[in-house]
Amino acid sequence: MPLLSDRSLNTAELKNNRSVEIPTGLMKRDVYAASRVASRGVAGTRGLGISVPALSSRTECGNPVCGGGWTPPWRSRRYPFFEDRWACSERCLLEMVKMAIAREIDDGVLEGVEEVAGQHRHRIPLGLVLLGQGWITHPQLRKALEMQRLKGKGRIGDWLVSECGLRSEWITRGLSVQWNCPVLTTDGFSPETMARALPRPFIEEYGILPLRVAARRILYVGFQDHLDASSAYAVEQISGLRTECGVIGEDRYRKAKEAVLGCRFVDMKRTIVADRDALVRSIEKVIEQGRPTASRLVRLHRYYWLRLWREEKGSIRSTRQIPDPGEAADYLFTIG
Ligand SMILES: [Zn+2]
Repeated sequence: MPLLSDRSLNTAELKNNRSVEIPTGLMKRDVYAASRVASRGVAGTRGLGISVPALSSRTECGNPVCGGGWTPPWRSRRYPFFEDRWACSERCLLEMVKMAIAREIDDGVLEGVEEVAGQHRHRIPLGLVLLGQGWITHPQLRKALEMQRLKGKGRIGDWLVSECGLRSEWITRGLSVQWNCPVLTTDGFSPETMARALPRPFIEEYGILPLRVAARRILYVGFQDHLDASSAYAVEQISGLRTECGVIGEDRYRKAKEAVLGCRFVDMKRTIVADRDALVRSIEKVIEQGRPTASRLVRLHRYYWLRLWREEKGSIRSTRQIPDPGEAADYLFTIG
């Protein structure tokens, strides 16, 4: 039997690949059996174990102060999984969610403050960046600033383009210097796939635009005129893909955004809760009822984004990353 590569196999591939033998007693649909074989390292089945939870997380509860401690795998509670850990009971799941919320609220508040303060302290105005690079002259900058002041609106870059005849490519290059990030293109952009990377409001409200996945590990995300590191971080936490941020030229950005907003997103439900306790209870309930094979929670500005992955047609494929159509569900919670 030839040795399989490390990538995970889905059911279709298993069916088509005659060289894969399923060991006697191993049911393809059985999480526990698959991970048991993987953990023993049976030759020729290494690929099977990649996308399923490891044995330890399957049989040990994710609540560090779990009263039960261990539940036999032959009990019927195979799910839910929350943040790569199995919850043995509803009570333990509640504890796990409570800890996740504490992490998102308490850590996040400090991060957010520092980030905003840092941005205001260190970011050099775009006009000065362009001037410093020698891409505009003093009179051009003065004229653009004067127009902005007179009209009381508009970005400096727009005035430089409309009043001083600067090509918009220079604005994009200036933004990339200002934010210390690359200029991204929309080559290889698949709006249908990218629409499933994150909930629609994040694109509409924070301007983050997922562009493409490279080497199954990196997700390129583009912004128009400012980088929102929090959005990129949230997508990274949920997808498990490393995000690389950059700016995109205005025309490209507008067209790509339009295309992705015209595609089908992961089904999403919005919920407004009264307070932190209600948030914990609501999230626990969604996970308990949804019985996901994987789920993750992250806070992005005012939203708590919960994504659930389901077992699709009996096959357990690689969770995280960008879900297939119908494979995941999003829940957006706000405290209000
Ligand atoms: Zn437990």
